[in-house]
Amino acid sequence: MPATSDASLEEAERLMTICNACRYCEGLCAVFPAMELRRTFDKGDLNYLANLCHSCGACYYDCQFSPPHEFKVNVPKTLAEVRSNSYQRYAWPGFLSGLFARNGLVIATAAALSVAGFIAGFIAYNDPTILFGTHTGPGAFYKLMPHDAMVMLFGGVFLYAILAMVMGLRTFWCNIGEPRSTLTETRSLWQAMKDAGRLSYLDGGGVGCMNEDEEPTDTRRTYHHLTFYGFMLCFAATSIATLYHYLLGREAPYPWYDLPVVLGTIGGIGLLIGPMGLLKAKMNRDEALRDEPRAGMEVAFLAMLFFTSLTGLALLFLRETPAMGLLLALHLGVVFALFLTLPYGKFVHGLYRFAALVRYAKERKEA
Ligand code: SF4
Ligand code: SF4
Repeated sequence: MPATSDASLEEAERLMTICNACRYCEGLCAVFPAMELRRTFDKGDLNYLANLCHSCGACYYDCQFSPPHEFKVNVPKTLAEVRSNSYQRYAWPGFLSGLFARNGLVIATAAALSVAGFIAGFIAYNDPTILFGTHTGPGAFYKLMPHDAMVMLFGGVFLYAILAMVMGLRTFWCNIGEPRSTLTETRSLWQAMKDAGRLSYLDGGGVGCMNEDEEPTDTRRTYHHLTFYGFMLCFAATSIATLYHYLLGREAPYPWYDLPVVLGTIGGIGLLIGPMGLLKAKMNRDEALRDEPRAGMEVAFLAMLFFTSLTGLALLFLRETPAMGLLLALHLGVVFALFLTLPYGKFVHGLYRFAALVRYAKERKEA
């Protein structure tokens, strides 16, 4: 059973009090310098520190008080528990967060298959020759599903995800006790963007990340980069395609050399390799560092990213064949499930981490 939110916070407070007296790890990441600015730790502080932590594991292996020492200091695992609990604590609406945390992969898979089945069934019911036909040229996708219906379905779930994430971020920001004015400080924002873009603190103080053993490597950071930048490229590809549609009157699918396809292909390759690498790293992770019981939503998120990319690339390569109809339905189903689960899993960690980095940049400037 995962430790309750209060138990994790109590343990985090105990560890931060020990670490604040020790301070041996202050050069490893942002967590320890931020901790040193405090003498006591309320819940907001602990959630802030937990979301600064990248779980690189360095402070566990470096610690003279880690098990079997009686102090049993395990900062990465405890902060991972607090962090995972923070996804639920700040999620909006709250009643959905527990449901997704317990059954993330099942709900995401069921949502993907249900939407794909509904789309494919609806097309086949109206005219099976359209579902299994070969469609080419501009507007080929919309012979299966009208553009306006696609926009309503996916625009709706996308806007819901944005609203839920903004509400969650707002609660996080209030809970850590940071005023809104911090968000207008350009220097702090810029520093946070640089730290987030480089994943500055996922290197165990410069040597790399400890994952399966005490040998540090940079592979987790590489897979994170592939996932993050792959996602951003796919998002850019979709945004440009939307502009093409509404501003230039150009309908998808586009030729292979066109910007949305080039960006989507490069991003898609990143989203195949990155999530696979992160899943592998998760499975190989030293048991002492694992936050096993809460892995459901993280696995669901990585799986949805991977399958969004896989079905998207399959659709690209087979779009002029009779497989296009089923592949389009499957791709749309996975994208729907991805959007639906975004506010309740690992994705929000990126938002909370960025907010925590903004606060850290401000505190560093003022210190
Ligand atoms: S993790 Fe261990 S070594 Fe590092 S600061 Fe805390 S108590 Fe000290
Ligand atoms: S980022 Fe690494 S070194 Fe820093 S607290 Fe987390 S696990 Fe420890």
